[in-house]
This record gives sequence, structure tokens and C-alpha cells, in this order.
Amino acid sequence: MIGLISATSAGAAARDRLAAAWPDRTRVYEGPVGDAVRAAFAECEQLVCFLATGAVVRLIAPLLGDKAADPGVVCVDEGGRFAVSLLGGHAGGANELAREVGELLGAKPVVTTATDAVGVAGLDTLGLPYEGAVAAVSRALLDGEPVALEAELAWPLPPLPVAERGAYTVRLTDRALEPGPREVLLRPPSLVVGVGASRGAPVDEVLELIESALAEAGLSVRSVAQLATVEAKSEEPGLVGAAEQLGVPLIAYPASELAGVAVPNPSDAPLAAVGTPSVAEAAALLGGGELLAPKRKSAGSPAMATCAVVRRPARGRLAVVGLGPGARDLLTPRAVAELRRASVLVGLDQYVDQIRDLLRPGTRVLESGLGAEEERARTAVAEARAGHAVALIGSGDAGVYAMASPALAEASDDIDVVGVPGVTAALAAGALLGAPLGHDHVSISLSDLHTPWEVIERRVRAAAESDLVVTFYNPRSRGRDWQLPKALAALAEHRAPSTPVGVVRNASRPDESSRVTTLAALDPASVDMMTVVTVGNTATREIAGRMVTPRGYRWQASTEEGAR
Ligand code: SAH
Repeated sequence: MIGLISATSAGAAARDRLAAAWPDRTRVYEGPVGDAVRAAFAECEQLVCFLATGAVVRLIAPLLGDKAADPGVVCVDEGGRFAVSLLGGHAGGANELAREVGELLGAKPVVTTATDAVGVAGLDTLGLPYEGAVAAVSRALLDGEPVALEAELAWPLPPLPVAERGAYTVRLTDRALEPGPREVLLRPPSLVVGVGASRGAPVDEVLELIESALAEAGLSVRSVAQLATVEAKSEEPGLVGAAEQLGVPLIAYPASELAGVAVPNPSDAPLAAVGTPSVAEAAALLGGGELLAPKRKSAGSPAMATCAVVRRPARGRLAVVGLGPGARDLLTPRAVAELRRASVLVGLDQYVDQIRDLLRPGTRVLESGLGAEEERARTAVAEARAGHAVALIGSGDAGVYAMASPALAEASDDIDVVGVPGVTAALAAGALLGAPLGHDHVSISLSDLHTPWEVIERRVRAAAESDLVVTFYNPRSRGRDWQLPKALAALAEHRAPSTPVGVVRNASRPDESSRVTTLAALDPASVDMMTVVTVGNTATREIAGRMVTPRGYRWQASTEEGAR
């Protein structure tokens, strides 16, 4: 039981939200705060105090016994902004409780025990059903004791700090095993049960059939991901009810699709009834996978249901993550979440350095140097196809002159891909320069490593003629110094020498610099590979030291005239 104690009306409001959300887990202690805390400390396994930490420290100090027996204590401040794990972080479960309370109240969990702060993913955050010695194994993970991961099948798990051998085990399995005394079983949703039923088949008959098929094949019902059947049976109450009882969806396929699946045990009866020689086996096998339990009939007479069980292949997960231009606060929260979700990180070494501190213990980092793009793309896709959760990183946006396209050109449809946008250099530079991108604009890379110069030049000329604002990426390097002057000359054929040009080097990095000059005055030698160059269109002006490309509002026409 979790004892809830508050002193003020704001605290009581938050307390009531918690009590309403967890009616069976919580008990409200009213009356004088001191008495309430003492009573709850004696009677509950955990306390949530809507009180200042100082007040709670004073109240519980005389009550402290030993670490194993004391309750876990969480404090929530008046504003409901923080849920502080104050006492019993591990043994008392206060760290976990702080997280849960935080999620419920929108408060930030504050956890100060060392291993939690490092960010080990709790077993309960893996998103899979689990059973066994959860408390002991979680504690071992958090305390840095060796825990072995026995993965019987590939699955895109988040990183776990696991060892080759250990006194504790996390076993990823869909088999019907009993967990050992120091073992947690993680249940991946790896099984698809194909089901067929005659009209009016009772729920119990269907459920018994599924359970006996799983039991005989030595499989756990907790790994069943879905029931699958033919469209004509999608509303058959026996199937709908069985899916409901198992807490999984019932997926239905057209008979024509099922008829195309090769199965070991086709028969004439379903062909006549619903138009496919197999329902159970075909529906289970449609997404690919291994048939672990061939078609069998239910025990009733006449038998009213059929089922077959397939283990589907794991779908790996490839997150393509843009890190932004450099500064930590331009890295999006979603990017951070994906970096911590991945158990394999692939990227250029200098970008890995940018975010290494965010990675969870147990993350496998595959970094490589400049020029190894192809290898990085292949590695990332291969790791995802092997069933892992992979993050492929790039600076700025990973889809802009970066790894997303080579990776996705390699990727097949047997992996899930998640893209996380990042602040690309043109935008980071634009914000420093003023508002250069206020009207139509393009980005052009001046690197002729993968693009013939003729193509680049044609695009620059087209941009010049169509009066687009142009941001040059990869503008100049030691070995590539004539391209930028040539591109600027092409623009100058259509733009005045006074056209504003923004030069931004290392946007949002420690040695950031930015200046506004003109087409005539720009010294290409001041530009390098850490730089982007943004050239205004014929309407772009320098106003108060900032580069502004008018949006074209009529109400500003007079101002623009004035500035001209
Ligand atoms: N994916 C990156 C671009 C990679 S191409 C992005 O979306 O930003 C590499 C070029 O990007 C560099 O040569 C430089 O022109 C530009 N660039 C990347 N980061 C930059 C930064 N912080 N400041 C200025 N230019 C940058």
C-alpha cells in the first residue's frame, strides 16, 4: 500500500489525482501531518508526501530502521513539478515510484542513486511482459552486478548492461518455461495464432484449443501477439471473444490472400465455405515465419475451431536521428529518446562524441571515420535486419546530405524505420543571420565528390535565374577551392554586387561565428567546410546588421521601398 500525505490544498489536489488513479494501491492519511507520516511509515510499503523534503526528513528521521525494511519515500513539491525519490530508492522502490508518480502528475522524477542516474533501462520499461525474479534482477542491474542476457530470439530491445555470464539472468523467450530463482523471463510478442471457426463456435472451445496447441508446442501464451483469421470470420463471436480474453487483436485477411499461401495441411472444407484451402495455417503464415504448431482441430464434436501457431521473424528497428548543428539544446527530446532506445549506435566518430554521454550503459557503439559512409549505411541496416534496435546518427538533419538516403536505399521492408528530424545547418545559420530564408530558397551542396560539377553548376544557374535564396553546404575545402567563386559568379550574373551574403561557421558550436557581407565583398578564402554560405535574392536587405529576405507583405511595401 502507498500512503499519501499532504498539508496544503494544492498538495491535496495532487494527492487526490494520485488516489483516483490508483484506488487499490493508495491510502490517504488525513489529520496532523506528523501523525499521518508516522502512521503511514509504520503501515505502508511506500509513501508519497506532498510536502517539502526538509519537512519529511525531519519527520522520518527518528523512524528510520534498516534499508531492507524501511518504506520507499517520494516527495512531491507544492507546484507538482518534481517527484523526489527521498528514501529507499532501490529496496523500497522509491526510484520506480518517483518515475510512476512523475508520469502521472506530469512531474519530473528526481533520482539521485548513482546507477539509476546513469540511466539503466528498468525491466519494466522494455515494453514486454515479464515474469520471475523481477525485483532481484532489477536490483542487480541497477547495482551493476553481472546479469546475463539469454536471448533465444532476436528482438529490438533497448540496451541492457549485460554480461556474458552472471548470477542473474534475463531470458528473452517465447517458450513455456518456469523462471529460475534469479531469472526474469521477457516475453516478446513473437507468436501469431491462426484461427478458424464454424459459425457459433463457443469462446471456451476456441480458447482451449489455442491453449492446448501452445502447451503442446511448449510455447507461452504471454508471447501471443495476435490472432489471425479470414475476413469472413472477423466478427465470429468465438474468435472475437478469444482475442479479447487473451488481450490481443484479431487480424483478418481476405480469402484470396490466404489462398496464395503455401501450407502443409490444406483441405476442401474451408475452400467450399470461405474460398481458401487453409484459414488457420495460412493466416498464421501470411506475415512469414516458422510454423511451430501445424493445424489442429478443437476437442468438440463436431470440432468447431482450428488453429496453428507461427513464430514470426523479429522486425528490427532503424532510427535515423538528426543531432542538430551542435548545441545540446538544439538536440530534440525525440532524438534523445531514440538515442537511448537503441542498443546499437552507428555513426561518424565525431558525431558519436557529441552525444556519448546520453547513451545508456550496454549500448554497442559502432563508430567509423570520415569517408566510411557506405560501410556505415550497410552496418546500420544489417544490424536492424538482425533484429536489433539501431540508431544511425547524422549532424543537423540526418536526411540532408547525410546518411538517411544511403541507408534507406539499402533497407528492405522487413525492418521498421523511424526518422527524427534535426535542425539542419541552413536553419541554424538562418537564425543567426536574421531572416534570410523568408522567401523561396534552396540548398545546394558544392561538393563534387558524388555529383558532377556540370550538374551542380546547372542548378546554381537555375537558382540564380529564378531568384531563389541559396544556401551552399560543403562550400569549400582544402582540395576544393574553385567551386565557390564559380558559383558566386553565376549568382552575380543575376544579382547586384550589394546582395547580402551570410557566412556562418560552426553554428551553435563553441567557436561559432557569423557575419553578413555582400556578393562583391565576400572573400572565399574565409570559408571552409565548417561553414554554410547563404546568398540573398534580389529583394534581400541588410537591416540593422541582419539579413532579411522580405516575405512580400503588402503592408510592408513602403518600408521595403524605404530600405532600398
Ligand atoms: N546533415 C547536415 C549537413 C551535412 S553536409 C545538416 O543537416 O546540417 C556538411 C556541411 O554542412 C558542412 O560542410 C557545412 O557546410 C554544413 N554544416 C553542418 N553543420 C554546420 C554548422 N554547425 N555550422 C555551419 N555549417 C554546418
